[in-house]
Amino acid sequence: MTPQIDTSDRNALKSLVRGTIHLPGGDGYDQARQVWNGMIDRRPAAIICAAGVADVMVTVRFARERGLPVAIRCGGHNVAGNAVGDGGVVIDLGGLKSVRVDPAERRARAGGGLLWGEYDHETQAFGLASPGGAISTTGIAGLTLGGGYGYLSRRYGMACDNMLSADVVTASGELVTASAGSHPDLFWALRGGGGNFGVVTAFEFQLHPVREALSGLIAFPFEMSKTVLQRYRDLCMEASDDLTLMAGILPAPNGGKIAGVVMSHFGTEEEGERAIRPIRELGSVIMDTVARIPYCAVQRQLDVSYPKGLRHYWKSAFLKNVTDDVIDLMIETVSTAPSPFNSIVLETYGGAVARVANDATAFGHRDAMFNLLILAISDNDAIDAEQTAWGRDVWQKILPHSTGGAYVNYLSAGEDVHSAYQDGRFQRLSAIKAQYDPANLFRFNQNIPPAEG
Ligand SMILES: Cc1cc2nc3c(=O)[nH]c(=O)nc-3n(C[C@H](O)[C@H](O)[C@H](O)COP(=O)(O)OP(=O)(O)OC[C@H]3O[C@@H](n4cnc5c(N)ncnc54)[C@H](O)[C@@H]3O)c2cc1C
Repeated sequence: MTPQIDTSDRNALKSLVRGTIHLPGGDGYDQARQVWNGMIDRRPAAIICAAGVADVMVTVRFARERGLPVAIRCGGHNVAGNAVGDGGVVIDLGGLKSVRVDPAERRARAGGGLLWGEYDHETQAFGLASPGGAISTTGIAGLTLGGGYGYLSRRYGMACDNMLSADVVTASGELVTASAGSHPDLFWALRGGGGNFGVVTAFEFQLHPVREALSGLIAFPFEMSKTVLQRYRDLCMEASDDLTLMAGILPAPNGGKIAGVVMSHFGTEEEGERAIRPIRELGSVIMDTVARIPYCAVQRQLDVSYPKGLRHYWKSAFLKNVTDDVIDLMIETVSTAPSPFNSIVLETYGGAVARVANDATAFGHRDAMFNLLILAISDNDAIDAEQTAWGRDVWQKILPHSTGGAYVNYLSAGEDVHSAYQDGRFQRLSAIKAQYDPANLFRFNQNIPPAEG
């Protein structure tokens, strides 16, 4: 049964908040509690669509006084479904979408409810961009707070490396600004520690001059997977920061599988063509969409492959190298997938990501060159258990070849959060959590409990 807030509290909440409130049984409640992953079916006690910072502050105080845990929603893309929680209060930031670009200082101030496509639209009017994710419908908040990897990361770092400051409503209901000079511990924690520390109502990001890229997908028959992945790996090890490659074994439109390489090159067209030649030279290309396209089109090109509502279970593992054994495992295990939509993908790190000191941010993994992502995707709830078992089995086989670390933004529900925070990070985050959220009000996330004592 859906937990309810009693009538007097409902009335109190309505009198406090300027934005819309969705309560169980009310119009819009069922739609408002849906997130991107169709596997998530949670029933919050109330969903507050904040109209501004004041709504966030009063809602946090309201929830704290009543012992109701708070979930925070930006894009709702989190695969673990952490934007909603059973019985808690959801603060939906979808109304906080303002962007102010300062082209002279190359900085942007962005509302905590923006999606990357919306942010990019505004910054591209000035020929500027900040590193974001590879899908335009992902929220800027969840992605950045967990680290934030995308096509620009090898050139300009993770999204969190480009965060200059953040306005945060902490568990006490107060608004603070975290930056290198103000609340530096909180600022450190926000750059990778997820939504544990408060509600970010606005970010300030560094911008960089970016207008277009040579970008697209080159696909090969599944039978060529080993050669394609070996060539991809070798190319990554010597690539310039301008080139970002992702590669994997992907679903083919006809139901089979293909080996695919997605590229983005931010240098000149000639340099980009030269950089991708070793992939094209493999021959037998069955699809090649690579073209010089505007940055916003780069950011949207994979959207169609990740529609809302499918059922997702993900596992990930950071790797220092992709050995032939890993490639063999990818090919072997993808062939046993219960769903035709399952895939295994490699993202390339290094470049500017690796040049940031390992202890500079809560996001670590700076020494990993690759992130392997196991995606179990289906539209059939009858095979959920099989899909989860498949994802775990593949991951177990990959684990001995990995750093043992996982990317917090790719953790599904109920996974080991420690794996995201190695080298004493978990303990440091836990101490900061105790300072800013001692009662663990913000616990619908990849939770870092407050340190005791
Ligand atoms: C299709 C798809 C593609 C993706 N591609 C990439 C990619 O290219 N690179 C990458 O790094 N990741 C990627 N991800 C992972 C993504 O970074 C995470 O799922 C991230 O959590 C999504 O952010 P969101 O704002 O959409 O999520 P939400 O589900 O809204 O929130 C996720 C978490 O962040 C917290 N949170 C949200 N907003 C705030 C806020 N304003 N203040 C404080 N906490 C907040 C929530 O409490 C929750 O714990 C992808 C995910 C999907 C589904």
